[in-house]
Amino acid sequence: MANKDYYEILGVSKNATKDDIKSAFRKRARQLHPDVNKAPDAEEKFKDLGQAYEVLMDDEKRSLYDRYGAEGLKNAGYDFNGPFEFGFGDLSEILSSLFGGGFGGPARNPNAPRRGSDLRLDFQVEFEEAVFGIERDIDITHLETCGKCDGKGMEPGTGPSTCHTCGGTGQIQQTTQTILGHFTQIATCPKCRGTGRIISNPCKKCHGEGRADVSKVINIKIPPGVDNGTKLRVSGEGDSGKNGGPPGDLYVVLYVKPHKLFKRDGINVYIETGITFSQAALGDTIEIDTVDGKKQLKINPGTQSGTVLSIKGAGIPYLNMPARRGDQFIKINVNTPAHLSDEEKKIFSRLAEIESQKSQKESIIDRFKGAFTG
Ligand SMILES: [Zn+2]
Ligand SMILES: [Zn+2]
Repeated sequence: MANKDYYEILGVSKNATKDDIKSAFRKRARQLHPDVNKAPDAEEKFKDLGQAYEVLMDDEKRSLYDRYGAEGLKNAGYDFNGPFEFGFGDLSEILSSLFGGGFGGPARNPNAPRRGSDLRLDFQVEFEEAVFGIERDIDITHLETCGKCDGKGMEPGTGPSTCHTCGGTGQIQQTTQTILGHFTQIATCPKCRGTGRIISNPCKKCHGEGRADVSKVINIKIPPGVDNGTKLRVSGEGDSGKNGGPPGDLYVVLYVKPHKLFKRDGINVYIETGITFSQAALGDTIEIDTVDGKKQLKINPGTQSGTVLSIKGAGIPYLNMPARRGDQFIKINVNTPAHLSDEEKKIFSRLAEIESQKSQKESIIDRFKGAFTG
């Protein structure tokens, strides 16, 4: 092993960064893995690759190797002769990501405090409630720490016993000899599920879970300006934590019911309204609906169908800034009368005559204009 060039084995340069080394290792490990590569020396090369990786990824080992070579490492107590062992560091993590389980480190401690899960609740509000905000009582169900056993999962007055399968460590260790060397696998103890303890008298109320479903009513404040999909976080109302961990949060996701009159786009409100021919021609002031109630809207003389008018500040409040509001937009439709009374017919006929005279006059003027300019 004295002659092995770790840089060459990995195919990286002397000043390769750790990222370079990592990606080179991944690439070569895939090619050399004995499951894939049936060449007789693949196994040996795979071991060399692992050594090269371990040395070059470790600042101290790399510097020793750079200065004194493999001999330097040996003198410093790093002896790679004998079967190569995969530890539980970075390397095994990479290997398990490349080739699946079996290289993994110990599972996380199941006795450590764990935060409870966040919960989601979909909640529908009326259009106006979304605009102006409201306080509502809502029913929720979440896991709460069992009051009887205080979350311990045991009948009060009883204690747990040490798991005999794992001796209380929660883990079992298996060392397997393979063509690649020793693989030490640490698995969660199946008997105690990693807790190291056996509960012989589970709490009757929570069946040993330490938490139980509780339904309750909570009061939530829906602020002005919420929209479809707005998430309100209710701190601490998710599931309670485990082993003394903090509770999760509750997220109330809002759905706003559509309104029969108003359409909403963000902070603006849209509405359509009809006016008559005479209102369009002569102008008028009409009353229209807004989220604040009825408001006056001025129609200018000569308003065309399809004109969009607006009322500033009559829209939706900005969420968290309710003093600022969007606008209301009003699309004007000029309604053509469909059923005319005799009197209306007379008036429209008269109007038609005037319009016809007017257009004759205009065409004469146009001809005169043509004579002067042409
Ligand atoms: Zn156990
Ligand atoms: Zn309990």
